[in-house]
Amino acid sequence: MKAFQLVAWQKPPELREVPVPEPGPGQILVKVGGAGACHSDLHLMERPAPKRPVKLPFTLGHENAGWVEKLGPGATGFAPGDPVIVYGPWGCGNCKNCRMSMENYCENAGGIARGGGLGGYDGGMAPYLLVPSSRFLVPLGTLDPREAAPLTDAALTSYHAIKRSLHLLGAGSTAVVIGAGGLGQMAIQLLRALAAAATIVAVDTSSSKLETAKHLGADEGLLSGDAAVTRIKDMTRGQGANLVIDMVGVNPTLQTAAQVARTLGHLTIVGLGGGALPVNFYSPPHECSVASPYWGSITELMEVVSLAQAGKIRMLVEHFPLERVGEAYQLLHSGKINGRAVITPNR
Ligand SMILES: [Zn+2]
Ligand SMILES: [Zn+2]
Repeated sequence: MKAFQLVAWQKPPELREVPVPEPGPGQILVKVGGAGACHSDLHLMERPAPKRPVKLPFTLGHENAGWVEKLGPGATGFAPGDPVIVYGPWGCGNCKNCRMSMENYCENAGGIARGGGLGGYDGGMAPYLLVPSSRFLVPLGTLDPREAAPLTDAALTSYHAIKRSLHLLGAGSTAVVIGAGGLGQMAIQLLRALAAAATIVAVDTSSSKLETAKHLGADEGLLSGDAAVTRIKDMTRGQGANLVIDMVGVNPTLQTAAQVARTLGHLTIVGLGGGALPVNFYSPPHECSVASPYWGSITELMEVVSLAQAGKIRMLVEHFPLERVGEAYQLLHSGKINGRAVITPNR
């Protein structure tokens, strides 16, 4: 089969011929329906070799859904043909965080757990994906894997980032989402579904993305800049927002986030933009907590799937066959994908 593989650091990935994997004990082979193209793949392609040794080549694609193809010896809980979504960060399954379902923070993974497509293991940009354990699969029910794939990263990451701050989002509260691309669009829908009483504000440099944000449930869409800061302050009687999620994470967006967050609020950095947030006694505001959540838990993925099944969240997706994967990443790189580019290796 053809697989889109990272062959060398800071070199463009290549479509290469590889064998179809055979599932070993406890493993499950998944026929890939959709594999989402994520901004973090662009970081992977552009970054220098990591300090932690990672075996090359490996197949990209960490946002995967498909159908169970074959169960390895002893694997249970699923049958061939079942539509499934694949939980992305693969932990050890035995440490305390893993047993609390937070395999993203596996204590034996050296900080954060990485699964297929993120270093070491092969990902889903190929017709078949080998998943090490059935505990990484969540049934999709009536959802189409080609449409659902982004739920496991774009939606799960946003869901976890919001859920941990829900206690701040009661009546009269304000949530600001900076960056209204794929993750931001999902965050807006999730805020609408989970924090119905909150006022939701989207901030972006693109007026068309702000239009989409409003369509998806944002109460206001503001173009990035000083006027956005003033408007958010005005809307909140000078207090600022209870929750600010920065989906971009570059210096200007982090600066905006610190300016519009309120005392006792949450400032949550999701974007991998590589910016730095200056912290001193006056900024961010007093007792405003800053966090950089990474992905989410398996049980949260189940909750995200439930929300999608109920029709409360929906990802805008643009499909590309595997032969056009390079083009999909180029469009993503130039900001021309509105929503998520999803590769469909089996059509
Ligand atoms: Zn990702
Ligand atoms: Zn673990």
